[in-house]
Amino acid sequence: MTTPPRDEIYLDHHATTPVDPAVLDAMWPFFAEHVGNAASEQHASGRFVAEAVEVARRQVAELVDADPRSVVFTSGATEANNLALKGLLATAPAEGHVVVSAIEHRSVLDVVHRLKRRRRPVTVIPVEGTGRVDVAALERSLTPETVLVSVMAASNEIGTLQPVGEIAAICRARGIAFHTDAVQVCGRVLFSVRETGADLVSLSAHKLYGPQGIGALIVRRGSPRLALEPLLEGGGHENRLRSGTLPVALIVGFGAACARARDLLDEEIPRLTALRERLWQRLHRELPGLVLHGDREQRLPGNLNVGIPGVDGDALLAGLKGLAVSSGAACSSAEPEPSHVLRALGVSDTLARASLRFGLGRFTTAEEIDRAAEIVIATVERLRGPEFIRTPSAAEVRP
Ligand code: PMP
Repeated sequence: MTTPPRDEIYLDHHATTPVDPAVLDAMWPFFAEHVGNAASEQHASGRFVAEAVEVARRQVAELVDADPRSVVFTSGATEANNLALKGLLATAPAEGHVVVSAIEHRSVLDVVHRLKRRRRPVTVIPVEGTGRVDVAALERSLTPETVLVSVMAASNEIGTLQPVGEIAAICRARGIAFHTDAVQVCGRVLFSVRETGADLVSLSAHKLYGPQGIGALIVRRGSPRLALEPLLEGGGHENRLRSGTLPVALIVGFGAACARARDLLDEEIPRLTALRERLWQRLHRELPGLVLHGDREQRLPGNLNVGIPGVDGDALLAGLKGLAVSSGAACSSAEPEPSHVLRALGVSDTLARASLRFGLGRFTTAEEIDRAAEIVIATVERLRGPEFIRTPSAAEVRP
């Protein structure tokens, strides 16, 4: 094994976040001290951990303003997205039509691509240049056969916030189920399941300073549109929607992370927005031709995604020593393809490859931001060389 990196500035909080020390404290006793299966209600040990699970369920529900009974714990958002789509479509007619946006996470897009290969009608709707879903195009795509629409609440790459309340209302009026992948908004901006009116909502603990390997699908209760089939069957856990022994320590950590996020939200939003602006202003001032990907205003506080013309993408990433950033979605970086999200914005493949995603987080400091900016500027200047003369291409000129 290689040694862990020392002094690397971690600006990849859309990929994953460190576990908050308060969350770790809450989890520790549930690894060894409190033994018990949450389904073993015959004895006090089982009942104790079952109670801890229910406390966590309420904490998760409170953060996103949902009914605790609607929370179905899963192994993460990949599973939650799969359960939402495959679970719903398993009970829908074969001609039931599905609509998703072009910038969804792979755990949504790969599912619908497979369904399409199996002849299910699927429409992938485009986004505007800022990454906002084209709501008019979405509305036009709906047919009497449409059974499900899935649009993420915020992009993990460009941070663009989507008008999910508006889309949910359009779906509700037509009796169509609406799913939103809310992984990136949960704990980062105010988000209310009740107000949004989404039927299915995916969450993941490791994006909000909780542990990896736990998430949830919120399944709105009492909605006649929702007949879900489980992906996993076994003991009938989680309302028969997700069988398997509940990972108590992870669930306790998820709950604690939600409670902590709720306490810190008011303070974190302005702090991260200011740090993000500081980074953008510095890079924008010193790197001629820098392109901002995504919406200037409707954006996650800690997200910055920029295209850097005049450098080779691979050389750029290789040159950024001491900085943990991503050149696309970390989840898909095993594939050398340029980001499907940047492509959907109309960004050229060359510029997409020479793009950097910064994800700022709870423990990011102003000093780290300044140092990160210096590393990026020095690397780009070295790669561009003194003869760099900028003539922007049409794809790069975007407000
Ligand atoms: N959706 C989005 C928007 C994400 O950013 C991620 C994580 N990259 C996922 C889904 C998958 O979540 P998990 O890691 O919990 O499976």
